Amino acid sequence: MTGHAQDHHHQDGHRDPPSFPIQEGRAIWGFLLAFLAYWLSHRFVYLENDPGALARASARGERVEWSSFDKFYIQAPALFLQPSNHEELIGILREAAASNQTVKVVGSGHSWAPIGLTDGVMLNLDKFNKILSIDASAKSVTVQAGIRIRDLSAALAAHDPPLALRNTGVLDRQSLAGALATGTHGTGIRYKIMSADVVALELVTAGGNVLRGSRRDPDPAMRDMFEAAVLHLGALGVLTEVSMEVVEAFSVIKRNRLLPLNTVLSTLPALAAGVDHLLVWFIPYTGTAQLVESLRIPPTKVPPTHDWGDSRKHCQNSGSTSGDEASAAQSGSSMLSLTYNKVVASLRSFSASLLLFSRPWLGVLQLRLLSAAGSFSSLFPVTYVPFWNRQVVAPALHLFAWGESFYPQGHRGIVLDDHPDCYREAEWFLPLESFNAAITAFITFLDSRRGKIGANFVVQIRVTHADDLWLSPFRREQGPQNNSHDNTGRDKTLSDSISWFVSVATLVKGFDSDPYLRAAEREVWIPNGGRPHWGKLHYLAYHELSALYGEPFEKYLRVRRRLDPQDMFMNSHLRELFFERAVR
Ligand SMILES: Cc1cc2nc3c(=O)[nH]c(=O)nc-3n(C[C@H](O)[C@H](O)[C@H](O)COP(=O)(O)OP(=O)(O)OC[C@H]3O[C@@H](n4cnc5c(N)ncnc54)[C@H](O)[C@@H]3O)c2cc1C
Repeated sequence: MTGHAQDHHHQDGHRDPPSFPIQEGRAIWGFLLAFLAYWLSHRFVYLENDPGALARASARGERVEWSSFDKFYIQAPALFLQPSNHEELIGILREAAASNQTVKVVGSGHSWAPIGLTDGVMLNLDKFNKILSIDASAKSVTVQAGIRIRDLSAALAAHDPPLALRNTGVLDRQSLAGALATGTHGTGIRYKIMSADVVALELVTAGGNVLRGSRRDPDPAMRDMFEAAVLHLGALGVLTEVSMEVVEAFSVIKRNRLLPLNTVLSTLPALAAGVDHLLVWFIPYTGTAQLVESLRIPPTKVPPTHDWGDSRKHCQNSGSTSGDEASAAQSGSSMLSLTYNKVVASLRSFSASLLLFSRPWLGVLQLRLLSAAGSFSSLFPVTYVPFWNRQVVAPALHLFAWGESFYPQGHRGIVLDDHPDCYREAEWFLPLESFNAAITAFITFLDSRRGKIGANFVVQIRVTHADDLWLSPFRREQGPQNNSHDNTGRDKTLSDSISWFVSVATLVKGFDSDPYLRAAEREVWIPNGGRPHWGKLHYLAYHELSALYGEPFEKYLRVRRRLDPQDMFMNSHLRELFFERAVR
């Protein structure tokens, strides 16, 4: 063992990961890929539609093509419409009902499941994007449901006093209604899915009726409508308005580090309990995981210094008396040495700030590099997946997996700095007590399929607090529920396995994702009691979903049939899920 390697050993035998973790001889791949990524980043920008342009072309009678964010689904609807108020929307729905047409609303098209597709009338609610009211004392906001999450977050941050959504996923391009439709979640054992923050909503039904409901609605029918519509799958009507709980604005400090995968998997509860948001990434057939750990701190524009070895109470803004200064003062040092210490401390804090502020750019580079590496590996036969994963994809991920970053506006720190462009994804949710068995089965599954499946991209692990929503994959039937669902202080009981779930997302880049995702679903996730993300790839149909969700699923279907007796909002994907006859 070299002297350098010994530096990383503690006396107890525990080995710290090297601070710059590129393995010798492999860095060259990273740098070649950096150039490739730079080139690709100019070509692969997000391929989102311009719904306004589609609606204008459709109004001129032209045939338009809507596509999902990655152009995987390309659909030519009979009409693409963008209503801007209730009258227009109700008129469209009544006309569609009269001519027996299917209507589907699309948000930003960021779903891997074909949940919003139709060749009938496609609606987009980008013009339903207004903030209707913000009540800072009640910590609530009422908005039109077509608003994009990033716009809502920005408006809340600009409010006086500044506010924020309690949590979001790692992406904020989605429409709010779209994110709620599929149970969009972030990560953190104290944080539930976004739908859990909804307190009231408005839905326009197939018949053009405007319904308003809330969780405590005195009318049981409206209460049921609310329960079904907080996670609505786009199958009940058009969601037009949402009132949500919000929180005081916060800043985020984030760190990236590498740890052996086995260590991460065996200590996941402790790792998750130690931070506000935990995201784990690993590349199949490699033994190292990247941890992205975030802490929420009171809002500040000044990068804080933080001792990660301890809890958040040690997080403080730079500018306060440093340890060096304090000890110098205590030991009665001269004015000269005090001044010297002050200058050194300022320089140190200045360079730390530079790194903290520049780290998000490294995050962007990391994700573009990773994306390029995934695309590169898919140019070769699937047999080489383990080889390229080790030689290219993992080094590309690990190249920038170090350092801290600081986000004065906390919501920018909750989402990823960027997003790899086109890939396919499935995500499964497991109660913590099933996680060990499931992840062991998954690693065994990967080994048994070595060189036979396109497992060439990230596996992402996150954690989410349980809830009681009808169609939430994080729904807990029994057991203690911890409802201290805020970002103030830590509650030890939250590490209780009953209160949270682990999600495992499997990403595929370039290869046909079906053989990998379908086999993992059958052999790993279903046998271990997993529930799938409604907006991502899965192959479940009614009978399996009914078994996974029980009576709440049937209650949802009863509400659905009552609100949409003509099946206006159905498509073939939803019919599979609901086992409903095709009437159109
Ligand atoms: C790159 C990427 C990253 C992602 N990250 C996360 C993550 O971190 N966490 C997570 O949980 N998920 C994540 N997702 C999944 C994503 O949040 C969901 O699929 C979400 O539903 C997409 O929202 P959207 O606005 O694009 O809706 P769409 O995909 O356009 O539509 C989704 C559903 O909502 C319905 N819908 C939309 N608007 C309305 C409306 N006004 N009324 C009625 N129905 C409506 C549609 O009909 C459809 O059924 C990610 C997806 C991608 C592509």
